[in-house]
Amino acid sequence: MTGLNKWLRSIVLFLVCFTIAAYGWFILGGAKKEYIVTPKNSEYKIIDDSAQNGATTATLDIRKHGALLECNIVNKAKWPFCEIAISLTDSIEEGIDLSSYHSVGIDIDYTSPIEGERVRVYLRNFDSNYANVDDPVSLKFNAIEYSPGVDVGLQIFPLRTFQVLSWWIAENNISVEKSSRQFDNISIIEIATGSYVKESYYAIRLNRLVFYGDWISESILVKSLLLLWVVTAVILIIIERFILYNKMKNTEERSQRLRDANKLLYNKSLKFEHLACTDPLTRIRNRHSIDEWLEEITIQTRLNNLPFSMIFIDIDHFKTVNDTYGHSFGDEVLIKFAATVETLIRRSDVFARWGGEEFVIFCPETNMSAAVEIAEAIQASIANKAWNFDREFNLTCSFGIAELVDETCEDLIRRADLALLKAKKMGRNRIEITWEHQQLK
Ligand code: GH3
Ligand code: MG
Ligand code: MG
Repeated sequence: MTGLNKWLRSIVLFLVCFTIAAYGWFILGGAKKEYIVTPKNSEYKIIDDSAQNGATTATLDIRKHGALLECNIVNKAKWPFCEIAISLTDSIEEGIDLSSYHSVGIDIDYTSPIEGERVRVYLRNFDSNYANVDDPVSLKFNAIEYSPGVDVGLQIFPLRTFQVLSWWIAENNISVEKSSRQFDNISIIEIATGSYVKESYYAIRLNRLVFYGDWISESILVKSLLLLWVVTAVILIIIERFILYNKMKNTEERSQRLRDANKLLYNKSLKFEHLACTDPLTRIRNRHSIDEWLEEITIQTRLNNLPFSMIFIDIDHFKTVNDTYGHSFGDEVLIKFAATVETLIRRSDVFARWGGEEFVIFCPETNMSAAVEIAEAIQASIANKAWNFDREFNLTCSFGIAELVDETCEDLIRRADLALLKAKKMGRNRIEITWEHQQLK
């Protein structure tokens, strides 16, 4: 397994564990939050119909967790009522953002002349788009009306069940966009007697008022987890691309280095091959370099019934040249001799140093008489050449020529050698040939 795959496995494992843990934490209520309204963090007041020329009287007894409102409703005002008004903050402009809460729990014991009578609960929201500080009625009425009963305990209402009162919308000329429920700046909570009260004693005992919410909503949690997966995947893809790019770059660099090294080796081997095939003194081919070629060409020549001749050349009295003028002079003679012969042969002829002062010329597609002509040209040229040395110098050589018959290249060479020997015996500076029948003798 590669390093990246190992990493990938660990990261995916981590993400899976993290997702399960986060979602499990949410399901098990880890994100839950509560806002409890108590006399400690809020201010409880009485409001009654006295402002509307009513005669209702009320008292408020603040308790540890809530309050007890007792009132005697008197049928004088148009809409007689009494209520507990809870200010959540000091200023009605700056309320509390309850929009991240989903429900409210209310525990009220309601004493009323008729069983099952309802109370009104208002969550009053301030928004400068429609409300102003001098007019408490301008705060939006998010309302529910329900029957709390006595000793019923905590009743929970989703905030979405609250409705904005239609008379408030009409009276304040609220646009449709602004007329839906709103909890982002609640500054007052009101718990009031019901809409149709009688002239009687009423008591609202508020035992508990609590808002329930989540620190993070389920949809935001799911979206965040999804985003985490997507961002991780994108980062991993980028890292993988980067690693791949670097690997490719390294491979390319390595193969370029290999190509360069191969080129160098190839050039070197070409150089060595050339050195191995070349006679270091005369710079013409050496004997070894033509072995394979010679074997192949004699076979092909015989198969195709073509003529093939060879000329054996041996410089006359070369030992004397060395003895007379020195070995290095002899070397120079050999160099100039080879260079001269090279100018006299054809492109198709193969010229090589056989050893010492002996040379060979192989002449493909050449019969005996043509080979003799070549030898004669060389003989004349060498014998008459002005050698340009700092002393007067003459050189001759002897030639043995043979034309290939039904034989191996070794036989051909041996016969040419025999012819050369004959030329030497017959006084040197001459050309001798050997025919097939002579070989048999
Ligand atoms: P012949 O006419 O019978 O061929 O007489 P020759 O003196 O040429 O023949 P021989 O075989 O007696 O001597 C050949 C000489 O060639 C002997 C050797 O010192 C000389 N020789 C061979 N290779 C080289 C070489 O590379 N450089 C020099 N300077 N001399 C060489
Ligand atoms: Mg010799
Ligand atoms: Mg010789």
